[in-house]
Amino acid sequence: MIILDNHFHVDPYKGLFLEAVKQFHRAGGTHLNVVYKTAHDYGFEGMKAEDFIKAMDFHIKLVEKINKETEVRAFAVVGVHPAEFVYLAEKKGLEYAKSEVMRALEYAQKLCLERKAIAIGEIGRPHYEVSEEVWEASIELMKYGMSLAKEADCAVQLHTESFNEEKFRELGKIVKEVGIKPYRVVKHFSPPLVKVAKEVGVFPSIIASKKNIAEAIKQGNRFMMETDYIDDKRRPGAVLGPKTVPKRTKAFLQNGLFSEEDVYKIHMENPKKVYGVELEE
Ligand SMILES: [Zn+2]
Repeated sequence: MIILDNHFHVDPYKGLFLEAVKQFHRAGGTHLNVVYKTAHDYGFEGMKAEDFIKAMDFHIKLVEKINKETEVRAFAVVGVHPAEFVYLAEKKGLEYAKSEVMRALEYAQKLCLERKAIAIGEIGRPHYEVSEEVWEASIELMKYGMSLAKEADCAVQLHTESFNEEKFRELGKIVKEVGIKPYRVVKHFSPPLVKVAKEVGVFPSIIASKKNIAEAIKQGNRFMMETDYIDDKRRPGAVLGPKTVPKRTKAFLQNGLFSEEDVYKIHMENPKKVYGVELEE
């Protein structure tokens, strides 16, 4: 059985790294979308495009290591986190930050074109209060990232403020405006609004809490599951643990909330459609 966690971070400095991946595997997990954290987390300053580029290369190496040293098949997702942009804009000014992040995103696109990564992410807009101009610039960068993904025909994973139906509809408009295939746009940390997401075409990646997944499956199986595991020993329990997606999937299959077809759809067909990759056992 294929089980994918669609949004998982690893941190070789502050976290368990390979041990977390092995825990995921022992629980029954087979595939991981490993998402770039921040340049700072990887030991780079995050003050210019080159820092982000080096951090992305570092991230690709981490993913290669997972593929070499564990049983799990890992894919890389690379980008510049919206919080990194906000920080840089505060330190060095908006225009400078914008142009450095744009260059970095172009590098993320290159990694997708070389098939070293399968998506640009997480990009988007901050989940906390920022000035009007930083907010507008974040949206501009989000659109830029989407247009790069459109050009490369790869996916994006979006980080945003907390989401509801109205926000999904707003995002749907942005997706149309950019012209990217809507199913290439993944809303990471999505609430279980499966029906609305389907209407606007965006793909929801739903946090794998019991409550969320129970609500999601009532609305259909057009979604993916994630933990947003952050792999930070100093913040245990800040997010769901590495074993959650396989454990939840198996439990839901056992208690009849998921059918075998649901599992197949959520963990194999949906990611195949979104990322254009084959997930093999
Ligand atoms: Zn994340």
